[in-house]
Amino acid sequence: MSAAASSSSAPQANNGGIITQPPPPSTLRESRIATHSHIKGLGLADDGTAMDVSQGFIGQNMAREALGLHLSLLKLGKYSGRPLLLVGPPGTGKTALALALSQELGSKVPFCAMVGSEVYSGEVKKTEVLGSCFRRAIGLRIKETKEVYEGEVTELTPSEAENPLSGYGKTISHVIVGLKTVKGTKQLRLDPSVYEAIQKERVVVGDVIYIEANTGAVKRVGRSDTYASEYDLEAEEYVPLPKGDVHKRKELVQDVTLNDLDMANAKPQGGQDIMSVMGQLVKGGRTEVTDKLRKEINKVVDKYIEQGVAELVPGVLFIDEVHMLDMECFTYLNRALESPMSPYVVLASNRGICTIRGTDTDGEGIRSPHGIPIDLLDRCMIIKTSLYTKEEIYKILELRCKVENINITPQALTNLSEQGEKTSLRFVLQLLTPSNILNKTKTGNTSSVDIEDILELNDLFLDAKRSTGLLKDLEDLEKKY
Ligand code: ATP
Repeated sequence: MSAAASSSSAPQANNGGIITQPPPPSTLRESRIATHSHIKGLGLADDGTAMDVSQGFIGQNMAREALGLHLSLLKLGKYSGRPLLLVGPPGTGKTALALALSQELGSKVPFCAMVGSEVYSGEVKKTEVLGSCFRRAIGLRIKETKEVYEGEVTELTPSEAENPLSGYGKTISHVIVGLKTVKGTKQLRLDPSVYEAIQKERVVVGDVIYIEANTGAVKRVGRSDTYASEYDLEAEEYVPLPKGDVHKRKELVQDVTLNDLDMANAKPQGGQDIMSVMGQLVKGGRTEVTDKLRKEINKVVDKYIEQGVAELVPGVLFIDEVHMLDMECFTYLNRALESPMSPYVVLASNRGICTIRGTDTDGEGIRSPHGIPIDLLDRCMIIKTSLYTKEEIYKILELRCKVENINITPQALTNLSEQGEKTSLRFVLQLLTPSNILNKTKTGNTSSVDIEDILELNDLFLDAKRSTGLLKDLEDLEKKY
């Protein structure tokens, strides 16, 4: 591995203390996206028509084509500030469509998926939850020209990455940059923080540096020719390296979200390893992102954008079950959509006309399509999704089995797709992994999931309709006696 010696691992403080290089973006929400791992894009042909099976998408052609058109408007810089609303029955691919839209916008475009009911937490204000989701969906591409050190190093093992000098114990003290000679002739492996220190010291090939074994701190002590003997490097250990400057100027690009910047600046300095975080939890300490902090970060971001150092990358914020939001949230949403720092917002609902939450304090409440206030609804571009046919369900199940490495017989797939048509796509998708486990438990690894496995599962798990029917039967029975 040729080591680009620059590092983004250590947050850097500048601009009046604002950290602009936070740790890698969090992966907290990835699990919600894992069920859509087969979705790679909208699967449209060059003329904008939906291809039969493409980029993981099957069916839902009208919605995909409408989204394709919406995408063109977004790329032209039009329609920002106007949300998209996906309406359709549960499990008809609304989340998958929103994810595909973000993928079409580019691989580094952030995607944040949330469910309306998430805002109701006992501890955090509703608008605070919404606010942080907005910031998760706004990316910032920071471009920097840096002097980097490029030397030959080998891949770090995890333990070495944690402690750059672990492989060498405390014996390492002198290194001739160029990475050939240390005490002992092993090749030196350095982690990015050491490189950063090397850069700071402006070390070039031939310099002798001192690395403090415990802290990894680097000090330049002189040139190798003079210091080799003084520092007791044996002749055979000392391999002179070609001299010359190995620093190079490189343009480095780092993609972060505004939420990453918030978190990096809210966390107490030096407390980002697991032990410190645990310590904070135990002591009851909490990471708090205040409005004041966000404003300060926005100021720095604005300055970076003005200077051409950074560029804003609007991502996609997907709010599922939007009917769960209340009036206060909708007011916040309306205002946030007008901000120049707004992501593309995709709303989804599987409800028809219902009461807008928060308007029913004195009885009736205001009723509206999808529980969304009319003024916001008026700003939305609305796209509908429809139920799948048996054939489409078959193909989606087949695709998911490939992704999850499940061997399944065509008969089992047919049975599942028939069930899916009567119940829901989501229900039959959920049966795939359990059916595989059941089959493996019974047969070892010798056969494919078959119709018997599916029938056995049907005895174990109910779909929503069967479960409602069962309760209704019980109610009738109670009335009888
Ligand atoms: P809900 O209203 O309950 O939130 P939804 O409309 O958002 O449901 P999804 O979560 O997108 O539905 O879809 C359920 C599952 O089916 C996901 O794993 C999704 O990737 C898959 N899926 C849905 N539609 C398609 C499709 N057209 N092609 C391929 N996979 C699909």
